[in-house]
Amino acid sequence: MRTPLMAGNWKMFKTPADTTAFFDKFLPLVAGAAHADVAICPPFINIPAAVAATSGSNVTIGAQNCYWVNKEGAFTGEVNAPMLKAAGCTWVIIGHSERRQFFGETDATVLQRTVAALEAGLKPIVCLGELLAERESGQTNEVLKTQFLGGIAPLTPEQFAQIVIAYEPVWAIGTGKVATPEIAEDTHRAIRALVEEKFGADAAAAVRILYGGSVKPDNVAGLMAQPNIDGALVGGAALKPEDFAGVVNFK
Ligand code: PEP
Repeated sequence: MRTPLMAGNWKMFKTPADTTAFFDKFLPLVAGAAHADVAICPPFINIPAAVAATSGSNVTIGAQNCYWVNKEGAFTGEVNAPMLKAAGCTWVIIGHSERRQFFGETDATVLQRTVAALEAGLKPIVCLGELLAERESGQTNEVLKTQFLGGIAPLTPEQFAQIVIAYEPVWAIGTGKVATPEIAEDTHRAIRALVEEKFGADAAAAVRILYGGSVKPDNVAGLMAQPNIDGALVGGAALKPEDFAGVVNFK
């Protein structure tokens, strides 16, 4: 069976001191969480503090983006995947809708970054999701298929086996409008069918597909009860230790 992954995305919140204070409270609250993998993805600047605070614990650390080629160079403002690996990261979020919306991320750059992350030994959490207008006009599956074909399908089977997919409907991110468990389950099933078509039944059965979009302690259990939902990518509720522990300890 697939081990759930409960991953927090801190976006552009918290200082190094806030990071240490968060883990002082959070780690004891999730120390007994053997049912799930637990990760936090802080801003780059907080990764050393997060790695130090979680050393020897059951919590792993990730980044929120990485450069698309694994070389050093004159690319002001960028951080590459080998740097993240050397800093102690396990994960990297790729293609979050905020990167797509505000920073020009495309399916092609999602693919490049994912390959770079894999080559550096990081585990990519690759995000897909439709806009509200796309859902309302019945285009959800088509949009997800395009994102999947451009950003994920060109991976080799070996590369694909290392990734996690996060389905994040853009209309549910940071809005308080969580997808119902039924809507999320239907969409996760459709994504798993795309995986089966491209990579086969074993790969489809093995890949973890996380749900993201206004997950909170009081709605996580209904989502996690769905057979095709294998964890959560959590923004706002990952900023407070008690809230994220409530999500992690969903059962
Ligand atoms: C996210 O940032 O990936 C996210 C899902 O945010 P929120 O939980 O705040 O909706």
